[in-house]
Amino acid sequence: MERKKNYFAGPSVMPVEVLEQLRDQMVEYNNQGLSMIEASHRGGMFESMYDECLALFRELLGISDEYDVYFLGGGATLQFTMIPMNFLRPGTVADYIRSGTWANKAADDAEKLGKVNYYYDGKANKYTSLPDAKQVKPSANSSYLYLCSNETIGGIEWQDFPDTGSVPLIGDMSSDIFSRPVDVNKFDMIYGGVQKNLGPAGATFIIMKKSLLEKQNSNLTAYMDYKLHSKEKGLYNTPPVFSIWAVKLVLEWIKKNGGTEGMQKRAVEKSGILYKTIDSSPFFKSPVDPTFRSKMNIVFRLPNEELEEQFVNEAKKQGMLGLKGHRSVGGLRASLYNALPTEDVVALAEFMKEFERKNG
Ligand SMILES: *Cc1c(COP(=O)(O)O)cnc(C)c1O
Repeated sequence: MERKKNYFAGPSVMPVEVLEQLRDQMVEYNNQGLSMIEASHRGGMFESMYDECLALFRELLGISDEYDVYFLGGGATLQFTMIPMNFLRPGTVADYIRSGTWANKAADDAEKLGKVNYYYDGKANKYTSLPDAKQVKPSANSSYLYLCSNETIGGIEWQDFPDTGSVPLIGDMSSDIFSRPVDVNKFDMIYGGVQKNLGPAGATFIIMKKSLLEKQNSNLTAYMDYKLHSKEKGLYNTPPVFSIWAVKLVLEWIKKNGGTEGMQKRAVEKSGILYKTIDSSPFFKSPVDPTFRSKMNIVFRLPNEELEEQFVNEAKKQGMLGLKGHRSVGGLRASLYNALPTEDVVALAEFMKEFERKNG
């Protein structure tokens, strides 16, 4: 098989070694006479794999015992509801940084459940920039401050994070988790869908500071209650078994390739190749503030939409998939998640230069 060059934003490219491991073990897991996806989540075979997965997750991100880690279903999107349900207390506000599609969706859901305050709204700059982390201060009666570390559609990424003092900080890291070291201690909760940088769709990772659970609203239904999930270590109901298994293999791959520091090195190198190509010609334009350029999702524009369409079509003929920008913003976008080989970024840069020579 000739593998396509996969720049999809999610679901997205996986390490080929992991796909091969999944294939080799799909029918029979470790000589145990059945597949991992046929085994009960209450049995030893799943549980030992799950424990290893969580241990590796903690090790690679340096997560202390003050936090619980587990996986839920429902996508990152379910968290847009669960967070305000659990933590937006009556008589207080929640601060949201409106930084683009994903943070805004979370904020819009929170508004239906309580009072929301906007410290920042990127609307005026069309969501191409972010506030200075050092300037961000939560409001006096804030239940939590919420941000999205990497706007997957807008292509902007926080380079460092605000210090919110005693106000809990909550972050959606769906599209840049494990792409760089993170000081988890700055946050009270970090979550994200695994389908960008960690595995197949179906699981959402939750990193929950135990002390945040003391500030929870009461009277929550079972699945909506983070305290219950913490108590049951994510096994209150059937977890997304296949997705978790694949995440464990991806984490092993990340560890083998230098951990979060190794991933950061790759991300700096890969995104640097594309930004250099974009910056070195007036034919390509990056619409985002250079200070906050994402290393995962590189958005760029050509002189007109006809050329952009032609670019996507010609790229596809050369086996390069997923370069069309999100339907809500148009333009072009290349997602360079951890598993995308550097060669595929070099190939895209070459294709861009060639396309400019022919059409510029
Ligand atoms: C993809 C994405 C989501 C939504 O994830 P689902 O699993 O589809 O609900 C949320 N936030 C960010 C930053 C994303 O990239």
